[in-house]
Amino acid sequence: EVTVVGSLNMDIRLTVDRIPRSGETISATGLKRSPGGKGANQAVAAARLGRRVAMVGAVGDDDAGRAITARLVAEGLDVASVAVSEQPTGTAVILWEQPESTIVIEAGANADVDEQFVDSRDAAVRAVADAQVVLCQCETPLGALAAVTRLATGTTILNPAPAVPVPAEIRDRFDVLVPNRFELATLAGAPEAPEALADVVAMVRGLAFPGDVVVTLGADGSVVVPRDGLPTPVPAVRVDAIDTTAAGDSFCAALADGLLRGEDLVGAARWAARVAAVTTTRDGAIESLPLADEVPAAPQD
Ligand code: ADP
Repeated sequence: EVTVVGSLNMDIRLTVDRIPRSGETISATGLKRSPGGKGANQAVAAARLGRRVAMVGAVGDDDAGRAITARLVAEGLDVASVAVSEQPTGTAVILWEQPESTIVIEAGANADVDEQFVDSRDAAVRAVADAQVVLCQCETPLGALAAVTRLATGTTILNPAPAVPVPAEIRDRFDVLVPNRFELATLAGAPEAPEALADVVAMVRGLAFPGDVVVTLGADGSVVVPRDGLPTPVPAVRVDAIDTTAAGDSFCAALADGLLRGEDLVGAARWAARVAAVTTTRDGAIESLPLADEVPAAPQD
């Protein structure tokens, strides 16, 4: 029911007290290796919420690739469209200065996942065409996005992360856009991220995106800007965040899950805020993603 077309990385996370200056060497206080990448995170997040999920992506013929694929299988994902590339598995080096991260990524095999990659694989074409929701990000080539919008028959959601100026002709073929405020500024070609809610909404309107937009605002929650109608702010759930890694990924997956439950976009964003809040209270990326029954019930108001 959900297909994710996106990245698969091995995350190498070094815990640091501070980010080193250019040319400086510092010691890490911790090391953690785990499967990650926005594609993998969103796919596992949707599976843990109870969705049937197919993953379209690529790993290398190496230990990292085998570990990632095994993990996806253990999470119940359909990996028929996870290809083994000539390139090494994508790698993310994360400097983790709790609760925020500074990240350097080497795309590796993820660079293979372009338009032709999707088009030339029957399983991938079927997974995209048959899905009720297709979730995409920008850690794989933009051509994959073009293929998705051409093949998909269900709802298409683009999380334009990391910040990439996705051309309007690709972007505008998605049904729902889920940027954070920095990614929104990049899409808009604006020099700075908008702060005030009114500025966020004005920048969304300036995109003239024909679909619906949900802008995530970290601890400030999100704002749903429908194609027609008034924007609706959705508050974050107040929690003690210890690691915001994968908060955006779990938000996107939960948004898809909410839409599949028949919620409207605002209802789905409220559910996504609850799921993402749990993610921020746990350490790590994939490890931090909650099962549906681990998400506390909405407070009665
Ligand atoms: P990204 O990680 O992609 O930049 P955000 O930081 O905007 O995404 O976070 C996505 C969502 O996760 C937010 O809309 C919010 O619902 C939730 N979230 C993020 N940080 C916190 C936090 N400190 N407390 C509660 N919820 C949070």
